[in-house]
Amino acid sequence: MNILIFGVQGSGKSTIGKYIAEKLNVSFVATGDIFRKLREEDSELGKLVREKINQGLLVPDDKTMNIVNERLKEKDTNNGFILDGAPRNMKQVGLLERNVDLIVMVSLKKEEATRRLLNRGRHDDTKEKIVNRISWYEDQTKPVIDYYKEKGVESIKVDNTLSEEEVKKSVDDLCKEFKRN
Ligand code: ADP
Repeated sequence: MNILIFGVQGSGKSTIGKYIAEKLNVSFVATGDIFRKLREEDSELGKLVREKINQGLLVPDDKTMNIVNERLKEKDTNNGFILDGAPRNMKQVGLLERNVDLIVMVSLKKEEATRRLLNRGRHDDTKEKIVNRISWYEDQTKPVIDYYKEKGVESIKVDNTLSEEEVKKSVDDLCKEFKRN
Protein backbone atom coordinates (compact mmCIF):
# COMPACT_ATOMS: atom_id res chain seq x y z
CA MET A 1 0.00 0.00 0.00
CA ASN A 2 1.33 3.44 -0.98
CA ILE A 3 0.52 6.13 1.54
CA LEU A 4 1.10 9.87 1.80
CA ILE A 5 1.01 11.49 5.20
CA PHE A 6 0.15 15.14 5.67
CA GLY A 7 0.06 17.44 8.64
CA VAL A 8 1.23 20.87 9.54
CA GLN A 9 4.86 21.01 10.72
CA GLY A 10 4.97 20.04 14.37
CA SER A 11 1.80 17.99 14.16
CA GLY A 12 3.66 14.79 14.94
CA LYS A 13 3.19 13.30 11.50
CA SER A 14 6.63 11.65 11.46
CA THR A 15 6.01 9.80 14.71
CA ILE A 16 2.60 8.67 13.53
CA GLY A 17 3.97 7.85 10.07
CA LYS A 18 6.65 5.60 11.52
CA TYR A 19 4.08 3.87 13.67
CA ILE A 20 1.79 3.21 10.68
CA ALA A 21 4.75 1.97 8.62
CA GLU A 22 5.54 -0.60 11.27
CA LYS A 23 1.91 -1.68 11.57
CA LEU A 24 1.37 -2.08 7.84
CA ASN A 25 4.85 -3.36 7.08
CA VAL A 26 5.71 -0.64 4.57
CA SER A 27 8.80 1.61 4.36
CA PHE A 28 8.82 5.01 5.99
CA VAL A 29 10.38 7.64 3.73
CA ALA A 30 10.75 11.26 4.87
CA THR A 31 12.09 13.96 2.56
CA GLY A 32 13.32 15.96 5.57
CA ASP A 33 15.55 13.03 6.61
CA ILE A 34 16.83 12.59 3.05
CA PHE A 35 17.69 16.28 2.76
CA ARG A 36 19.32 16.52 6.17
CA LYS A 37 21.63 13.71 5.08
CA LEU A 38 22.24 15.22 1.64
CA ARG A 39 23.22 18.61 3.04
CA GLU A 40 26.29 16.99 4.63
CA GLU A 41 27.57 16.02 1.19
CA ASP A 42 30.37 17.92 -0.45
CA SER A 43 28.65 18.21 -3.85
CA GLU A 44 26.65 20.74 -5.85
CA LEU A 45 23.44 19.16 -4.64
CA GLY A 46 24.68 19.07 -1.06
CA LYS A 47 25.49 22.76 -1.24
CA LEU A 48 22.11 23.68 -2.70
CA VAL A 49 20.24 21.67 -0.07
CA ARG A 50 22.36 23.21 2.70
CA GLU A 51 21.51 26.70 1.49
CA LYS A 52 17.80 26.05 1.16
CA ILE A 53 17.45 24.44 4.57
CA ASN A 54 19.46 27.18 6.25
CA GLN A 55 17.30 29.84 4.64
CA GLY A 56 14.13 28.01 5.60
CA LEU A 57 13.26 27.59 1.92
CA LEU A 58 12.16 24.58 -0.10
CA VAL A 59 14.46 22.61 -2.36
CA PRO A 60 13.36 23.10 -6.02
CA ASP A 61 10.42 20.87 -6.99
CA ASP A 62 12.07 19.00 -9.84
CA LYS A 63 15.19 18.16 -7.81
CA THR A 64 13.05 17.11 -4.86
CA MET A 65 10.84 14.82 -6.89
CA ASN A 66 13.77 13.26 -8.78
CA ILE A 67 15.23 12.30 -5.44
CA VAL A 68 11.87 11.05 -4.15
CA ASN A 69 11.16 9.01 -7.31
CA GLU A 70 14.60 7.41 -7.17
CA ARG A 71 14.17 6.57 -3.50
CA LEU A 72 10.77 5.00 -4.19
CA LYS A 73 12.35 2.69 -6.77
CA GLU A 74 14.35 0.93 -4.07
CA LYS A 75 13.36 -2.63 -3.26
CA ASP A 76 12.28 -1.97 0.30
CA THR A 77 9.25 -0.08 -1.05
CA ASN A 78 7.94 -3.07 -3.03
CA ASN A 79 5.37 -3.74 -0.36
CA GLY A 80 4.51 -0.05 -0.25
CA PHE A 81 5.66 3.08 1.52
CA ILE A 82 4.51 5.92 3.65
CA LEU A 83 5.90 9.18 2.31
CA ASP A 84 6.31 12.09 4.71
CA GLY A 85 7.17 15.55 3.38
CA ALA A 86 6.18 15.30 -0.29
CA PRO A 87 4.36 16.14 -2.47
CA ARG A 88 4.08 19.56 -0.90
CA ASN A 89 2.49 21.41 -3.80
CA MET A 90 0.65 20.64 -7.04
CA LYS A 91 3.83 20.79 -9.11
CA GLN A 92 5.28 18.00 -6.99
CA VAL A 93 2.04 16.01 -7.34
CA GLY A 94 2.48 16.08 -11.11
CA LEU A 95 6.05 14.81 -10.80
CA LEU A 96 5.39 11.91 -8.42
CA GLU A 97 5.75 8.66 -10.35
CA ARG A 98 4.22 6.16 -7.92
CA ASN A 99 0.47 5.80 -7.47
CA VAL A 100 -1.19 6.61 -4.18
CA ASP A 101 -3.68 4.34 -2.35
CA LEU A 102 -4.29 6.22 0.85
CA ILE A 103 -3.73 9.60 2.41
CA VAL A 104 -3.39 10.17 6.13
CA MET A 105 -4.01 13.60 7.60
CA VAL A 106 -2.68 14.37 11.03
CA SER A 107 -4.57 17.20 12.61
CA LEU A 108 -3.36 19.56 15.28
CA LYS A 109 -4.17 23.23 15.88
CA LYS A 110 -1.63 25.67 14.46
CA GLU A 111 -0.91 27.20 17.86
CA GLU A 112 -0.17 23.84 19.44
CA ALA A 113 1.99 22.78 16.49
CA THR A 114 4.02 25.98 16.77
CA ARG A 115 4.46 25.44 20.49
CA ARG A 116 5.69 21.87 19.96
CA LEU A 117 8.10 23.00 17.23
CA LEU A 118 9.64 25.71 19.37
CA ASN A 119 10.13 23.16 22.14
CA ARG A 120 11.89 20.81 19.73
CA GLY A 121 14.57 23.49 19.30
CA ARG A 122 15.93 22.43 15.89
CA HIS A 123 18.06 25.28 14.56
CA ASP A 124 15.83 25.87 11.51
CA ASP A 125 12.86 26.13 13.88
CA THR A 126 12.83 29.85 14.55
CA LYS A 127 9.45 31.45 15.10
CA GLU A 128 9.59 33.32 11.80
CA LYS A 129 10.49 30.24 9.77
CA ILE A 130 7.81 28.21 11.50
CA VAL A 131 5.14 30.80 10.71
CA ASN A 132 6.31 30.79 7.08
CA ARG A 133 6.22 27.02 6.79
CA ILE A 134 2.77 26.81 8.31
CA SER A 135 1.41 29.37 5.88
CA TRP A 136 2.97 27.50 2.91
CA TYR A 137 1.33 24.39 4.20
CA GLU A 138 -2.05 26.07 4.17
CA ASP A 139 -1.59 27.70 0.75
CA GLN A 140 0.22 24.94 -1.08
CA THR A 141 -0.27 21.60 0.64
CA LYS A 142 -3.96 21.76 1.44
CA PRO A 143 -4.79 21.83 -2.31
CA VAL A 144 -2.74 18.62 -2.64
CA ILE A 145 -4.96 16.91 -0.05
CA ASP A 146 -8.10 18.18 -1.80
CA TYR A 147 -6.77 16.93 -5.12
CA TYR A 148 -6.29 13.36 -3.91
CA LYS A 149 -9.65 13.36 -2.17
CA GLU A 150 -11.42 14.57 -5.31
CA LYS A 151 -9.65 11.85 -7.26
CA GLY A 152 -11.30 9.36 -4.93
CA VAL A 153 -8.21 8.29 -3.01
CA GLU A 154 -9.18 6.97 0.40
CA SER A 155 -8.33 9.31 3.28
CA ILE A 156 -8.17 9.00 7.03
CA LYS A 157 -7.71 11.58 9.74
CA VAL A 158 -5.73 11.17 12.95
CA ASP A 159 -6.36 13.70 15.71
CA ASN A 160 -3.06 14.35 17.44
CA THR A 161 -4.46 16.36 20.32
CA LEU A 162 -5.36 13.00 21.87
CA SER A 163 -3.00 11.25 24.26
CA GLU A 164 -0.29 9.01 22.81
CA GLU A 165 -2.23 5.93 23.86
CA GLU A 166 -5.43 7.13 22.23
CA VAL A 167 -3.60 8.07 19.03
CA LYS A 168 -2.01 4.63 18.86
CA LYS A 169 -5.36 2.99 19.47
CA SER A 170 -7.05 4.95 16.70
CA VAL A 171 -4.21 4.16 14.31
CA ASP A 172 -4.39 0.47 15.27
CA ASP A 173 -8.12 0.43 14.46
CA LEU A 174 -7.58 2.14 11.13
CA CYS A 175 -4.75 -0.21 10.20
CA LYS A 176 -6.84 -3.27 11.00
CA GLU A 177 -9.47 -2.02 8.62
CA PHE A 178 -6.91 -1.55 5.85
CA LYS A 179 -5.33 -4.92 6.38
CA ARG A 180 -8.72 -6.53 5.90
CA ASN A 181 -9.33 -4.75 2.59
P1 ADP B 1 9.59 20.93 7.65
O1 ADP B 1 8.38 20.09 7.35
O2 ADP B 1 9.56 21.55 8.99
O3 ADP B 1 9.93 21.87 6.54
P2 ADP B 1 11.20 18.64 6.98
O4 ADP B 1 12.00 17.84 7.93
O5 ADP B 1 10.03 18.00 6.32
O6 ADP B 1 10.79 19.93 7.80
O7 ADP B 1 12.13 19.22 5.83
C1 ADP B 1 13.33 19.91 6.11
C2 ADP B 1 13.73 20.75 4.92
O8 ADP B 1 13.93 19.91 3.77
C3 ADP B 1 12.66 21.75 4.47
O9 ADP B 1 12.72 22.94 5.19
C4 ADP B 1 13.02 21.92 2.99
O10 ADP B 1 14.11 22.78 2.82
C5 ADP B 1 13.43 20.53 2.58
N1 ADP B 1 12.26 19.74 2.06
C6 ADP B 1 11.65 18.70 2.66
N2 ADP B 1 10.64 18.23 1.90
C7 ADP B 1 10.61 19.00 0.79
C8 ADP B 1 9.78 19.02 -0.37
N3 ADP B 1 8.79 18.16 -0.57
N4 ADP B 1 10.03 19.97 -1.30
C9 ADP B 1 11.04 20.83 -1.14
N5 ADP B 1 11.84 20.89 -0.08
C10 ADP B 1 11.65 19.97 0.89
